[in-house]
Amino acid sequence: MTDAGCDDRTVLPATEPVPGAATATPPAGGPRAEALIELDAVRHNVALLSGAAARSGAETMVVVKADGYGHGAPGVARAALSAGATRLGVATLDEALAVRSAGIDAPLLSWLHLPDEDFAAAVAAGVELSVSSREHLAAVLAGARAAGRPVRLHLKADTGLSRNGCPPGEWAGLVDDAEVAAADGTAELTAVWSHLARADEPGDPSIDAQAARLHEAVAHVRARGFAPLRHLANSAATLTRPDLHLDLVRTGIAAYGLDPIAQPADSPLRPAMTLRGRVALVKTVPAGEGVSYGHEFVSTGPRVLALVPLGYADGVPRRGNDRGRMRVRIGGTIRPVAGRVCMDQFVVDCGTPGALEVAVGDPVELFGTGAADGPTAREWADELGTIHYEIVTGIKGRVRRTVRDGGGA
Ligand SMILES: *Cc1c(COP(=O)(O)O)cnc(C)c1O
Repeated sequence: MTDAGCDDRTVLPATEPVPGAATATPPAGGPRAEALIELDAVRHNVALLSGAAARSGAETMVVVKADGYGHGAPGVARAALSAGATRLGVATLDEALAVRSAGIDAPLLSWLHLPDEDFAAAVAAGVELSVSSREHLAAVLAGARAAGRPVRLHLKADTGLSRNGCPPGEWAGLVDDAEVAAADGTAELTAVWSHLARADEPGDPSIDAQAARLHEAVAHVRARGFAPLRHLANSAATLTRPDLHLDLVRTGIAAYGLDPIAQPADSPLRPAMTLRGRVALVKTVPAGEGVSYGHEFVSTGPRVLALVPLGYADGVPRRGNDRGRMRVRIGGTIRPVAGRVCMDQFVVDCGTPGALEVAVGDPVELFGTGAADGPTAREWADELGTIHYEIVTGIKGRVRRTVRDGGGA
């Protein structure tokens, strides 16, 4: 990750940050651990992203894999489609079928499969399928024949990520097979696409190199008389490279309000997830007491401590406070975590007695919109040397998800 590129945002207007409703005090007696999802924030973000894509003449696919990046795929999908997205994307067939089971019939692409999966069910459910090899294509076509309807294919080219995708040397063979399937009505050649390795490093030469390889792969398919959609841009490229919007952008993380490159205070994106808990116990300890496993925090004087019942089994990283820099919002202010995060709980240092009014049952915000200098998922990620994607997709365990839908943006 890099900070480069915050100045070359040509795509989204900078706006005043909208204070999230999530910063309001939750009702007393709420869940002990809760991920609050604001669908209005998703709508707001998707409206910005799809507006930018539309200015380039591109459609917007919102990626709802990993259960909507931990936000709940069905709610996110519906909110995205109501805000300008026209397509959805997932990694796996199970994820695709879950979207369909939720009654969502928008165009939907699934892209990461083993060749022995049940493609018939996916084709029957109208799921568009990506293929990266002749072996995968043969399996998908068998599924289409079993389902009795043509499959809409997205041929994936490996343009330099060396992960999924068909390498250039195998492209002609894959297109040969797809051409036969298109001719006999088993398949429609819907799209040619690829994925970028370093889109979050604007200006990196690999981005243009990958785009050039995609254009070669497309040219090959066009030369056979097809007119496939072309798609390449993830969130980072959607934000920084309007010239790479092509026919369709695939936005994941930015739809959830998290900027893949840098999030300035005036970022127009609104984080949609707030993780919060409630104080389970309050106590005062004298000077010299060690707090939590390993006694990494030792009180220097009398301290008020608040116990919060979320831990690494819930997705709060055990190493999150290794450098003593984890902070939460409690009692209307920001306070540091004291000592190590445990499996089920951690402790907040509420200062000297009387410094902060804090009581059992009080709400604690672990991360959220960042409004009023609140803690953020990015802050956690920076501390751990990872990315906020891993933080929000990692919330699990006993955290209850509450999806709030204000019905607007
Ligand atoms: C996850 C994923 C995306 C979305 O990426 P973001 O960085 O979250 O926008 C797009 N395309 C593919 C192939 C993906 O796997």
